[in-house]
Amino acid sequence: TQACLTAIDAADALNAFVHKTPEVAKSQAEAADARLKAGDTPDLCGIPLGIKDLFCTKGVPSQAASGILAGFKPEYESTVTSQLFDAGAVMLGKLNMDEFAMGSSNETSVYGDAVNPWKVDDRKLTPGGSSGGSAAAVAADLCLGATGTDTGGSIRQPAAFTGITGIKPTYGRVSRWGVVAFASSLDQAGPMTKTVRDSAIMLRAMSGFDPKDSTSANIPVPDFEAALTGDIRGKVIGIPKEYRMDGMPAEIAKLWEDGTAMLRDAGADIRDISLPHTKYALPAYYVIAPAEASSNLARYDGVRFGHRAKLDKGDGITEMYEKTRAEGFGAEVQRRVMVGTYVLSAGFYDAYYNRARKVRALIKRDFDEVFAAGVDAILTPATPSAAFGLGEMADADPIKMYLNDVFTVTVNLAGLPGIAVPTGTDASGLPLGLQLIGRPWEEGDLLNVAYSLE
Ligand code: GLN
Repeated sequence: TQACLTAIDAADALNAFVHKTPEVAKSQAEAADARLKAGDTPDLCGIPLGIKDLFCTKGVPSQAASGILAGFKPEYESTVTSQLFDAGAVMLGKLNMDEFAMGSSNETSVYGDAVNPWKVDDRKLTPGGSSGGSAAAVAADLCLGATGTDTGGSIRQPAAFTGITGIKPTYGRVSRWGVVAFASSLDQAGPMTKTVRDSAIMLRAMSGFDPKDSTSANIPVPDFEAALTGDIRGKVIGIPKEYRMDGMPAEIAKLWEDGTAMLRDAGADIRDISLPHTKYALPAYYVIAPAEASSNLARYDGVRFGHRAKLDKGDGITEMYEKTRAEGFGAEVQRRVMVGTYVLSAGFYDAYYNRARKVRALIKRDFDEVFAAGVDAILTPATPSAAFGLGEMADADPIKMYLNDVFTVTVNLAGLPGIAVPTGTDASGLPLGLQLIGRPWEEGDLLNVAYSLE
């Protein structure tokens, strides 16, 4: 813990930690030490972690990297963080992210950009988003693991951009209670770590049924670490042809081929598969996610949480809402609220929101059919490129930024587990990752396939 606290202080340039909690860390580390001395050895005893700012941590600022939650200190602890603490983990501080987890580059944060510890010459690169601070902190060894959340790729894309591992579990595996909501039917928390084994250990501590989350599944949590046998002989790995996008960079195509060859060499049975509705996933996601966000973010009204605008004489409640939300939300969040409100409006509900829901059902069916035909896991690239430069995409058209999520959003729409593992580099030496998609509730199997790629 002390080594991490020192490293964090020396790494302010990465802007990964937005709120340091050395006092909490010291007292938790002492408590872990006392547990060890008493012969109690929980899985994460004394392990220093960073916590994404989206998680509510009792008495500690939890702002979802938004101005609208300025000064918000929750009265309660999220289920995930309380389970991690029960398992002996130590919190080093809160990690940077895109505002309300909306973004793919950590550039929408009220705290400013997080910076990728990897660089080429002097070009500052994004660590990805939305869990950019988590990825940067783990990659730079500021903590031994971090929590992330993934609504459309926010664990897997930053993991791939920083050369670490991150898993988005099956929807319902990890409680959403106390995690600031973005798009509730897609949001899932998961671990971001240096190795697959660390992810397996941390995921077990984060998982489990929680009566406080109505979508939490009452399904036993297996020992994910015990699943890491390294033996994948006979496993059927699907290679979906629809993920071979037009204009895929040669280095991404090669990464994918190399990963396929590694799995084949390890004894897996490689099969070409088709997921025909893949091309509709991104548009469906960018209707459903903003729709749910516009509803979830209605609670930030200047009354209950954080920021309230200064009002002029004669202002009423409408002016208070408008001014507070105009000041408190950044541009990307406002764009999502507007898009979401539009697609849910009476005149457009059927044309956009309802159609996107139908597309979502078809995407899920594509996966169901492939798994029913005997496929155990699906291998794809995690991202269309290596980490890009800060400022390079944010200044362009937002659609360009959204295209980053092309390989990851299908997994959230279908509620499946997905993992990103670092398996190679681009020509300039930047990390690249592959994604594996698994059957629901079979994270152990998925982690084991990922383990054989590591
Ligand atoms: N980049 C996607 C978005 O901006 C996904 C974000 C996430 O998974 N939280 O919506």
